Amino acid sequence: MENAEEKNRRIKLVEQKLNDKDYKLTPQRRATLLVFLENQSKHLSTEDVYKLVKSKYPDIGLATVYRTLQLFDDFDIIKKLNFGDGCYRYELSDREKHQHHHLICLKCGRVYEFEDDLLEELEQKIERSNDFKIIDHVVKFLGYCNKCQKEQKQG
Ligand SMILES: [Zn+2]
Ligand SMILES: [Zn+2]
Ligand SMILES: [Zn+2]
Repeated sequence: MENAEEKNRRIKLVEQKLNDKDYKLTPQRRATLLVFLENQSKHLSTEDVYKLVKSKYPDIGLATVYRTLQLFDDFDIIKKLNFGDGCYRYELSDREKHQHHHLICLKCGRVYEFEDDLLEELEQKIERSNDFKIIDHVVKFLGYCNKCQKEQKQG
């Protein structure tokens, strides 16, 4: 996150969202949110989040972190991602702009983010031909990253 002001703005938005439904941004939830704000563009597993929160809140338990992630997911504060490696990962949800897509390397498991959205035209086409109002799409691209392609050629 670029600056403290932007960070505070995001925290306020989340607090408002929770308060609207009679939930509170407790210190533990706030610490969990900060982990996401400070690790943008990373894709964190429950274990990753737990370790990062615990470094600031040594008393926090894994169950609390787990429940907080669940709550944040329900409130669309974070997005739950499945890269097919057997564990769920999370990243901050970005409602203000279109969520990026992911390129997943089948060899090394690295996940690359892909900002361009070339799917709007496709959505329009599908809407027209199926009379279906599309509000979102979920796509992941599977393949081999540049590094792994080079290794494959050499090997
Ligand atoms: Zn790779
Ligand atoms: Zn991502
Ligand atoms: Zn898209």
